[in-house]
Amino acid sequence: MALKRIWLIVFFISFGWGFAQPTEKSVNDLLQKAGNAFYQLDGVKSLELSKKALDQAKAINNKALVAQAYNMIGLNFDEFYDPVKGLKYYLRGLKYAEKSKNDTVQIWLCNNIGNFYSYRKNDLKNSIDYYKRGLYYAEKIKDSSEIMYAKLSIAGAYFGANKYRQGETYMRGISNFVIKKDDIEAKIHFYSMYGDYYSHLGNYTKAESFFDQAIQLGKKESGSLLDAYMIDVYSDYSSHFKRKKDFKNALFYADLHKSLKEKVYNEERTRKVKLAGSQLEIEDYQRQIDKIEDEKSQQSKDLKESKLIVLLFVIILFILLLLLFSLYRNSMFRDKTYRELQQAYAELQEAKEKADEASQLKTQFVSTISHELRTPLYGVVGITNIILDEHKELAHSPHLNSLKFSARYLLSLVNDLLQINKIEENKIVLENMIFNIPDEINTIVDSLDFIAKKNNNTLVKNIDPAIPEFLIGDKLRLSQVFMNLVSNALKFTKDGTVTVTAQLQEVVESRYFIHFSIADTGVGIAPEDQKKIFEKFVQIERKEGDYQGTGLGLSIVQKLVELFGSTIQLESEIGKGTTFSFTLAFDADEKKRIEIINNIDVDLSTVQVYRILVVEDNKINQIVTKKILESHHFKCTILDDGYAAIDLLEKEHFDLVLMDINMPIINGFETTKLIRKKGIETPVVALTAFDKQEITEQALSSGINDIIIKPFEPSKLFQVISTLIER
Ligand code: ADP
Repeated sequence: MALKRIWLIVFFISFGWGFAQPTEKSVNDLLQKAGNAFYQLDGVKSLELSKKALDQAKAINNKALVAQAYNMIGLNFDEFYDPVKGLKYYLRGLKYAEKSKNDTVQIWLCNNIGNFYSYRKNDLKNSIDYYKRGLYYAEKIKDSSEIMYAKLSIAGAYFGANKYRQGETYMRGISNFVIKKDDIEAKIHFYSMYGDYYSHLGNYTKAESFFDQAIQLGKKESGSLLDAYMIDVYSDYSSHFKRKKDFKNALFYADLHKSLKEKVYNEERTRKVKLAGSQLEIEDYQRQIDKIEDEKSQQSKDLKESKLIVLLFVIILFILLLLLFSLYRNSMFRDKTYRELQQAYAELQEAKEKADEASQLKTQFVSTISHELRTPLYGVVGITNIILDEHKELAHSPHLNSLKFSARYLLSLVNDLLQINKIEENKIVLENMIFNIPDEINTIVDSLDFIAKKNNNTLVKNIDPAIPEFLIGDKLRLSQVFMNLVSNALKFTKDGTVTVTAQLQEVVESRYFIHFSIADTGVGIAPEDQKKIFEKFVQIERKEGDYQGTGLGLSIVQKLVELFGSTIQLESEIGKGTTFSFTLAFDADEKKRIEIINNIDVDLSTVQVYRILVVEDNKINQIVTKKILESHHFKCTILDDGYAAIDLLEKEHFDLVLMDINMPIINGFETTKLIRKKGIETPVVALTAFDKQEITEQALSSGINDIIIKPFEPSKLFQVISTLIER
């Protein structure tokens, strides 16, 4: 006889069957109703309610309630339909109960599974195992009722296996509890089991007393689950009478057993329960199929997702590879660019070094050329002066004057050409000299007369008499400007007129603004060429053998005019002629003029005879210098070697030394240094063709007192000499 363990509140009545939203309470209600129906032997209803409870418990995902629903279903199958299927539901319930960790539900399920093994399978070992597991949970939660049920069940199992004494030990401990407890089921079980026990021991009187008590309780609720228990009680009681050989009573209780069994498990009830059971099974299968479908769709979804992930992974990998490749290429490109830059830098460095070297060479070249050209030109100018001096009748010789002027012009032109870089770097400073405009223009016009004649041109001078006689300014640069412009005008004009005009424009304070123009009636310059011609080395339509020019003239002119603080203007028309014009301001301070003239004259009036030592290796220059000095009453000794000069200075007294710098054996700087070393303090003046700026520092550090650049104005030389000697 098995105790069915369920959530049972007998006669529980509840209104309202449907629940809009499943809740714990709604599931509990359903389970209670299912339990009641089961108790009333209404398997169909109980199954229906259990199924509903199961659905709702699953919907709210309450594992303990799911376990209870499975327990209820299992009981219905076990009791009315198919015990093996019942076991299936119990086991399913037990899994949920374990997961929910609800000990009470685990106890019930262990009990019901134990029942299955004990009563359906006669499998003592398995049944005892499950009962004891139930007992373990019951003791764990210290639930006396559950402990009692578990022990009753264990005892029942032992009795079933004819192990009465073993079973009775479990009964003994709970007898008081059962008797006191108001639990008909437990009591029926307890009494009938003791009946069976004493019958087995041969104590028939005691046995019948227990059986009778059980039968008495069983009659209380006819038509309920108690009937199912009573079927077993009657069977056991019949067996007792058989054992006692009271066959009449044995038959009586066998009949009762049979009729009650037919009543409880009648065909109609079984059929209906079967139907409900199979419906439940179908739904259960459906649920499983749905679950499988769900799992399948989940799997295919997972598969899709994983496919997508793989695809994404591949794409990302591809992008990464691309990035890596582009990085690699970039770094290659960077390396290449870096190498190229390095190479370019190295080339630039090399080019710079070459440029520096070239510039160095250029500077050296400029210096050498200026020196080498100045030296012979000094000779030309000097010799011309000597000739003019010795042959007074030639003083008015235009040829000789042209020669002298050309030589001087050439010298300054050489200087300017070679110093064009200095002009551009604004390193040229205009000097102040006294000059006379008509003289300057006349000289230029005279010197260019032969070109004028060659081209059959008339040269007209137009000089404003209002211009002061003596002006102060850089007459050499002015001559240079005129020389260029007038010679160009004469070159580019045939059978025409070249007019040189100097017009006083205005006087502001002491400044005289003079407007100069050089006009010709020549070929003219096309408008598109008018800007170009001022650029360096530009010549428009130069015809071979036509004239010799460098293309530098106008750029020097433009720069020089700008140096004077003015700008050059050009008006020209093809075939009609060209006019270059510009306005320059000069000082004409009378006091200053007289002072300058006086300064020059002072030196020339000397009567004392001074001794000058000239150290110079160039024979022509020796003659020129000697001539200049002697013509002004200086006593002059000439030596061509520095060492000889030192020797002589040690022996004889000189008032001043004129020292050439560039000499073959020992140069002027070294010679002066040695002179100073010997303690000789005679003033030394460097007389050189070098650029003054280039040598000043070295000259002073060597002990040289002053520098005069060849060719020089004699007056300048005497001024320096007298200043130093007087000192
Ligand atoms: P160069 O005279 O040595 O050729 P310039 O710089 O003095 O160089 O002149 C540049 C060019 O300007 C000349 O080659 C010529 O074509 C043009 N030019 C200069 N002056 C005149 C002028 N008065 N009439 C016509 N063309 C001129």
